[in-house]
Amino acid sequence: MAIELTTSIQYIKGVGPKRAAALEKAGIRTVEDFLFYKPLRYEDRRAFKEIGSLRQGDVATVSGKVWTARLYGVPRRGLSVLEMVVRDESGSIVVKFFNQPYLRDQFQKGRRMVLFGEVRWDDYSGKLALLNPEFELLDEARDAQIHTGRVVPIYRKLGDMKTKALRNIAHAVVENLPGGSFDPLPEDIRQRHSLLPRLRALAELHFPVVGADGASALALYNEGRSAAHRRMILEEFFVLQVGLQLLRVQRAVEIKRRKYAVDDRIREAVKRILPFHPTAAQKRALKEIVEDLCSRKPMNRLLQGDVGSGKTIVGLQAAVVAIENGYQVAWMAPTEILAEQHFLSIKRLLARSAYGVALLTSAVRKAEKEKLKRAIAAGSVHLVVGTHALIQEDVAFRDLGLAIIDEQHRFGVLQRSSLKEKGLDPDTLVMTATPIPRSLALTVYGDLDLSVIDQLPPGRQPIRTLLKPSDQRQEVYRIVAGEVQRGHQVYVVYPLVEESERKDLKAATQMANHLADRIFPGLRVGLLHGRLKSPQKEEVMSRFAQGELDILVATTVIEVGIDVPNATLMVIEHAERFGLAQLHQLRGRVGRGRATSSCILVVELPVSEEAGRRLQTLCDTCDGFRIAEVDLELRGPGDFAGVRQWGIPQFGFGNIVRDRDLLELARQEAQRFVARSVEGRFSASDQAVLQHLRHRWREKMGLALVG
Ligand code: ADP
Ligand code: MG
Repeated sequence: MAIELTTSIQYIKGVGPKRAAALEKAGIRTVEDFLFYKPLRYEDRRAFKEIGSLRQGDVATVSGKVWTARLYGVPRRGLSVLEMVVRDESGSIVVKFFNQPYLRDQFQKGRRMVLFGEVRWDDYSGKLALLNPEFELLDEARDAQIHTGRVVPIYRKLGDMKTKALRNIAHAVVENLPGGSFDPLPEDIRQRHSLLPRLRALAELHFPVVGADGASALALYNEGRSAAHRRMILEEFFVLQVGLQLLRVQRAVEIKRRKYAVDDRIREAVKRILPFHPTAAQKRALKEIVEDLCSRKPMNRLLQGDVGSGKTIVGLQAAVVAIENGYQVAWMAPTEILAEQHFLSIKRLLARSAYGVALLTSAVRKAEKEKLKRAIAAGSVHLVVGTHALIQEDVAFRDLGLAIIDEQHRFGVLQRSSLKEKGLDPDTLVMTATPIPRSLALTVYGDLDLSVIDQLPPGRQPIRTLLKPSDQRQEVYRIVAGEVQRGHQVYVVYPLVEESERKDLKAATQMANHLADRIFPGLRVGLLHGRLKSPQKEEVMSRFAQGELDILVATTVIEVGIDVPNATLMVIEHAERFGLAQLHQLRGRVGRGRATSSCILVVELPVSEEAGRRLQTLCDTCDGFRIAEVDLELRGPGDFAGVRQWGIPQFGFGNIVRDRDLLELARQEAQRFVARSVEGRFSASDQAVLQHLRHRWREKMGLALVG
């Protein structure tokens, strides 16, 4: 049967309607979708390890036949054990499966199977054994052909389809692929980098072709760096890069109707809100932003700066310029709590101005919300703070001139384009508090201009960071008491992944009481968490800010926004539970004044190896860029949740850290391609490529913006 990439997967041998439904659930509808379901790893089954040669500690794939199998219970431990002896020509090994009695029926004597796992010493049988290994049963001769005697792919389970079922499908697909297909990578690029043809790359991704140098070739596959992988990764990056660059080109010819003037009166207004002298880096960033505002084309700028570098004031100065020119400003944070905190600090900074500032979140009551919306529509609200819902909801602005998006890493490239889809086209300033290495910023945010605040306000000192196991809490308390005695204030932070997690909230509340009543009866202890009503939150924060509280016990609501320079010590409980970027953000709440600050990471031992590295990194450095690099490294290839959190589009094969070189290559190639288009040197095949890319942006990324 000849198939096309667009053929529905349900027509492939071995699929059928039921499996097709399960595949569809995972977003796999076509043959092409299936080919993009990449193997987790590859196993070399060209020659199996001899069972007789296995040693304790080996991680091996063996093939053998069931010799004996019996099922028994260990009632005292509530355990069922399926114990087998599996043999090949060289010897035998014990294989045990725990609490999977239903496997019994499959393992009749003489059944052939492939097993993969670590060889361990089994005290009960006094022999070497495989405990709960991965296994595949092999039946007909055809099975052996597909699943042994070659390098095979291992897949993540999909519905109730395990590796073997998925491999059968992959095999049926790959066997019947057409001779060639449309290639989204232009011919010149393929030639320049000697890339595999697309279909061959896709086929080899599932069934690697490895020659005599098997081991190293296989390693490349397992690392996702084989020629087949690289070809597909380059394609993915190219698709995105062309999109981003066409966006730039398109924007270059856009003309906005807003007109800005910056005269002495406005300069005065901008200066008036400054509680301090801006750093040179802040001045430079503001200048770049104001130039954008005054230019005829809409601003799309990324303001990047480490935590504590002072982005807020720069954004706010830009806001003043917009307001003074008669435009409204939308200030968007990634969560409601952060929006609230921004609102509070903005209100403080604008206290002496006459601007109308409002907070619009889902916590605002209906009647109040309607009133606010009317005020926004009428233009009496000049600056409105909220979440992304601000632009998704039916908020009508009188004249929205500037959108400030804070905490870019949770917004993402794609969400930004939704502004435009709403018929809004403000100047856009994206602020990222999570420092992404500059090289990556340029490639991943290729559609934005970049301003960097690469300097901290004067007088900042590195934050001394120590690690303390939780059983040394008494010592931590002594340090806290000492800090307060010196007239400083202290944060004690509790992890709360979701503000709705009642249990952790209870822990924070109990801790606050415990500290207030038992440990520091003479000190003033406050509690801050996301469940508090706004006025309460405001009260607690302002009491802390005014020095009326010595210790603030808080959930992670203080991650961004709180700004109390007299707070010089932060204790983070359960530090092992936090991500690196988040810990860095949190820690940034201290070290804001001239006094030396410290941070104590209290950890519950033992911690995982990865958590250990996170914590150590934090103790070693305060450099956000270094931290971001380690963070990205630790998340490792394939952790797309992590990538998503950074607001970077998901890639199927590519990993922006591991594959930096390809990202850069894709950027250069995209530049050439787009230049051809701009200069009118597009060939018919270029045109076809562009057509195809447009389709991909729409289908796969929801990006419908390149006209
Ligand atoms: P971030 O870049 O993390 O958003 P913020 O805007 O919250 O940083 O600023 C961090 C702290 O530094 C705040 O207390 C702010 O008032 C202070 N700050 C910012 N710029 C300066 C400056 N030029 N001089 C002194 N303090 C500053
Ligand atoms: Mg900030």
